[in-house]
Amino acid sequence: MPAFICTACGMQFAPTPQPPAACPVCEDERQYVPPGGQEWTTLEELSRSSANAWRVLEPNLFEIVTTPAFAIGQRAQLLRTPAGNILWDCITLVDSATIELVRSLGGIKAIAISHPHYYSCMVEWAQTFKVPIYLHAADRAWIFRDDPAIVLWEGERKELPHGLTLICCGGHFPGGVVLHWPGGAEGRGALLSGDIVQVVQDRKTVSFMRSFPNFIPMSGPAVERVVKALEPFAFDRIHGAFPTRTIWKDGKRVLKSSAERYLAYIRGDGSAELL
Ligand SMILES: [Zn+2]
Ligand SMILES: [Zn+2]
Repeated sequence: MPAFICTACGMQFAPTPQPPAACPVCEDERQYVPPGGQEWTTLEELSRSSANAWRVLEPNLFEIVTTPAFAIGQRAQLLRTPAGNILWDCITLVDSATIELVRSLGGIKAIAISHPHYYSCMVEWAQTFKVPIYLHAADRAWIFRDDPAIVLWEGERKELPHGLTLICCGGHFPGGVVLHWPGGAEGRGALLSGDIVQVVQDRKTVSFMRSFPNFIPMSGPAVERVVKALEPFAFDRIHGAFPTRTIWKDGKRVLKSSAERYLAYIRGDGSAELL
């Protein structure tokens, strides 16, 4: 039985004889069903038309992106540490070239994902490399292909080997998670931030939204919670969800000033427009 994949968001569902009636991720107000209607594919079909491209973002950090761009178009990041490699966020396509390349880099130790939009084909990746997938329990309702590899964690933080920390910031999703990598940015620290802290088009600032495609903002208290959750961590760099979306330096200051700008607008006192 095929495990159908939604072509709009890239989510793979548990195997069924027929495609699901709808994709709950796309029906949700944070996403959208394309004007042409709901369409489905399979991993086999996708492997025939697409491949993954690799880029070194900085020492010990690779970006993996499907080309031509598929569904939401996010990047996965392969973070190498002496304690093993972590796949941060996930993409739908895992093909034989990707498997061989990842294995030649020492395989992966675990998968960690920022939020449900990037669950994609996480179970295929986990089964291939026989590794756990760390997801925040607050978003468990968005798991549509369950598997023993899925490890739900609760609370504000989860420590991973080699000083890495998963930080639950909430916001875009209740279980929205950011990965802190103290060894990133030549030891000044880096965040791998998914959509939770969104590195935006100018690549100089970040922003926060409940829905990016549907322009639904996040509340002031939710933004304050994201900033507060990241406050104790040292970082200079922020690698966002999409190719080229990296804040290379001053990430800590950028987060603070971007949040202040956001809060000034969202509070609606008119002062932000006068700046
Ligand atoms: Zn979908
Ligand atoms: Zn998202």
